[in-house]
Amino acid sequence: MCRVCRHVKLLKPMDGGGFTWDSNKFSPFGTYSQLLTRNHCSICRLILSLDTVDGGHTLHPRLAQIDREIQGTQFHAQLLPSGEVMLGVEYGMTTVGALRLLTPDNLSDALRQPCPRLALGTLFLNIYNKRYPHLLEGDQRVDFGKIRSWLYECNGIHGELCNSLGNTQRYASEIPPILIDVQDNCLVQAASAEKYFTLSSVWGKVKISQTINANIQDHFQKSSMDPSQYPNTNTRRYDISPIPW
Ligand SMILES: [Zn+2]
Ligand SMILES: [Zn+2]
Repeated sequence: MCRVCRHVKLLKPMDGGGFTWDSNKFSPFGTYSQLLTRNHCSICRLILSLDTVDGGHTLHPRLAQIDREIQGTQFHAQLLPSGEVMLGVEYGMTTVGALRLLTPDNLSDALRQPCPRLALGTLFLNIYNKRYPHLLEGDQRVDFGKIRSWLYECNGIHGELCNSLGNTQRYASEIPPILIDVQDNCLVQAASAEKYFTLSSVWGKVKISQTINANIQDHFQKSSMDPSQYPNTNTRRYDISPIPW
């Protein structure tokens, strides 16, 4: 750890062993160029990974545009329903992400992909000298209960922010999105009034089917899209709902 991290003491020991983020100790933590001088520190390096593009060589252009007077890293505590605290990270008062301490107890919740989970399970085996068979269970399944709770939370708590159409130009005309019909396996022209899910997935390096100008018309034909060509998260949509999305 760098001198700043040792001095600020972001982590505090817990009663039953292990560490948690010390939410009483959050103080300003430095600008991008200051973080760069502490690139040897594992915590500062993680914070840099949230602020930067190009593998850490450039401050994200949107953050670079922020008034230099307020540029700098700040922290806030993010409390999960389980009581666990994550270290929320802001740069120039813009939330850029959060750091989470992985333990054998939260690993299967925090990481859905089996490969990194296995790797960390091996690491835990070395640290704690104990096996954690539950880390090997489960797949990349979508947690429908969680998605439902997001929808309820949005309807019930976010108020006008999410649920009022407002009187702005943004909603004056209908937006005609193109959705994927997961029953007919094709694209459909829809209206923004329809209910649909938006999923995002990391493209990564795997070759997956794309809709581009050259094939978009073909993809409007029924059964023109092969579900096996899409990431697991997207194909799981079959189980959620028959409506287009
Ligand atoms: Zn540090
Ligand atoms: Zn909302």
